[in-house]
Amino acid sequence: MGPKKGSSSKSKDNNKVQIVVDDDQDSLAMVPSADQEQAVKAPIVISYNDRIRPLLDVVDRLRNLMVMKEGIQLPTIVVVGDQSSGKSSVLESLAGINLPRGQGICTRVPLVMRLQNHASDSDPEFYLEFNGKIVQTDEDHIANAIVLPTDEIAGQGKGISNNPLTLIVKKNGVPDLTMVDLPGITRVPVHGQPENIYEQIRDIIVEYIKPEESIILNVLSASVDFSTCESIKMSRQVDKTRDRTLAVVTKSDKAPEGLLEKVTADDVNIGLGYIYVRNRIGDESYDEARLEEARLFENHPLLSQIEKSIVGIPVLAQKLVHIQATIIARCLPETVRKISEKLNHNVTELNKLPRSLSSTAEALTAFMQIMGAAKESLRKILLRGEFDEYPDDRIMHCTARLAEKLNNFNAELQNSSQNYSTENFLMEEIRELEEAKGIGLPNFLPRAAFLTILQRRVKGIAHMPAEFMGQVWDYLEEIVVNVLMKSSDNYPQLQSSTRRAAHNLIAKMKEESFSWVMEIVEIEKLTDYTCVPEYMSDWTTLMNLQENFINEVFSEQKPEKVNLNYFGEVEVAHLRPYRQVIDQAYDMKMRMVTYWKVVLRRLVDSMALHLVFSVQNLVNKELEKEIVYELMGPNGGGIERLLDESPVVAAKREKLKRSISLLKEAKDVVSRIMDRIATNAD
Ligand code: GDP
Ligand code: MG
Repeated sequence: MGPKKGSSSKSKDNNKVQIVVDDDQDSLAMVPSADQEQAVKAPIVISYNDRIRPLLDVVDRLRNLMVMKEGIQLPTIVVVGDQSSGKSSVLESLAGINLPRGQGICTRVPLVMRLQNHASDSDPEFYLEFNGKIVQTDEDHIANAIVLPTDEIAGQGKGISNNPLTLIVKKNGVPDLTMVDLPGITRVPVHGQPENIYEQIRDIIVEYIKPEESIILNVLSASVDFSTCESIKMSRQVDKTRDRTLAVVTKSDKAPEGLLEKVTADDVNIGLGYIYVRNRIGDESYDEARLEEARLFENHPLLSQIEKSIVGIPVLAQKLVHIQATIIARCLPETVRKISEKLNHNVTELNKLPRSLSSTAEALTAFMQIMGAAKESLRKILLRGEFDEYPDDRIMHCTARLAEKLNNFNAELQNSSQNYSTENFLMEEIRELEEAKGIGLPNFLPRAAFLTILQRRVKGIAHMPAEFMGQVWDYLEEIVVNVLMKSSDNYPQLQSSTRRAAHNLIAKMKEESFSWVMEIVEIEKLTDYTCVPEYMSDWTTLMNLQENFINEVFSEQKPEKVNLNYFGEVEVAHLRPYRQVIDQAYDMKMRMVTYWKVVLRRLVDSMALHLVFSVQNLVNKELEKEIVYELMGPNGGGIERLLDESPVVAAKREKLKRSISLLKEAKDVVSRIMDRIATNAD
């Protein structure tokens, strides 16, 4: 079976439905008869492609199921226009009924109008559907029947709502069309309307016309300048290519002058073209109105010049039916695909939600699983350097980040100690040596002077290790909380106590680290010791330069500066009064320089080991203990907390279940009708 005209072919896979509609006008076109009297008496659309009707049924059923609430768009003809441009009148003309019409804002909720051609021998049917209710009415009372549900949806008064009301019209001679009438755009709130009425209406309109699946029927009054119409501005914003906008020009009878020129100029660039109409005026009956319209475009000196293929309600109906068939054929396969996709996605989501737990054993198992997962994640990122759970989240690559922090700390320490000033070279040592003088031989190097300088230096950097530790623990807290929250994602009732436990534990461990750091620093002040052999060799190298240096300082030339290769150019003029202590001062300085390197290295090394040790402890021992204590403690609520499902998860589950059943039904509807079409076509 090849794709024949207007047929639909269905593959074995229900999700892939292909619909082929012929795009040439023949099968749909009903060129209005030259004999206008005849056209008026005939049903608006006499021939209608039977194969499109079931597709329209699918769309209407899906609309009824409210699949739009699931974010699935349906092909829709949306009527927009400025207030009193004649929207409701156009719909009336198409349906051959009376709608609330007139001044002010009458249409306050989206009105979905479903017109269905009915066999000529059965009675017309009219009913309203809203909020799951169905209300029967009759031809003479539709306008009134709409008022009550409108009040129910949007409240009494002048407020508006985006919750739709559906009007079903089954009547002989109406075109099979589904359209949505929207509140008219108004700039100025009238008495009793909310201040932001314009924004509210605009939001509703945009919501309906934005989807690519919407055809915008823009109703323009002949008497206005089209380019200033709000509705034109709005449809231009969402329909950039303009090829889903059709314009209907109403009130042609009121402003016939220049109308033809206005449309020919097409300043506003309407992709699907213009149709001129004249609606029912005053108490005219529907049939009288059609007759008057036909006469007007036939006889009026100006209006009669307009091509007949773009005037009159019958032509409009024709065109809409054709457009509708085209968009349905274009969009439906995609819609069906989206329904399937959404359904699968929601089922997966539902399965991902935790089961609700019913016994302490189950709760304990769940808790152990959460803890196990969290600990494993932490071991990976903090100890083993495996980042498969966080490939792109660099902050979670902890081993690397911690090494980075340690390197920075080292660099900072080194920098802060580079302040060997070249100006007051050796002066600190000289001063301390003077102070250490006692009654005794002058050629002993006083150790007290050395220790004083050492203590001063250690004090100078004492804040840095503590700051470093602080930073590291803050970082670790962020990581631990992050991992714990992720692994207990599905049990929000657990999260506050785990977060608290992590916070308390880290605070405790941070305190311990601080006191350990203080101890390390104090120890360095206490004495000078190292078994590192480089101390002696480096010092000897520096001491070998001593004689040369001192000779130069006290030479005949009396230099301002002397080059001392390790230190660069140092100023020396200030040293000449201190001939007696200069040897000792030089010696002491060189001991300090070599020893200080040892001190800094020792600091960084022990910090590094301490860090690794603490992290190990945290992950392998302390964390779980702390969390269990917290959970079982007076504020924890115990493991049983896991038994009462969190309202968040419960609500999520309910929402998913509802959505799944709706989508399943939608899928059912589609496949049933598709089956029927396939059978009919065979
Ligand atoms: P809506 O606010 O856009 O729904 O506009 P309505 O359909 O309520 O129409 C506003 C007014 O314009 C009503 O009084 C209609 O009778 C009048 N009207 C609508 N279409 C025509 C038309 O083609 N010719 C004339 N003369 N009046 C019209
Ligand atoms: Mg209206």
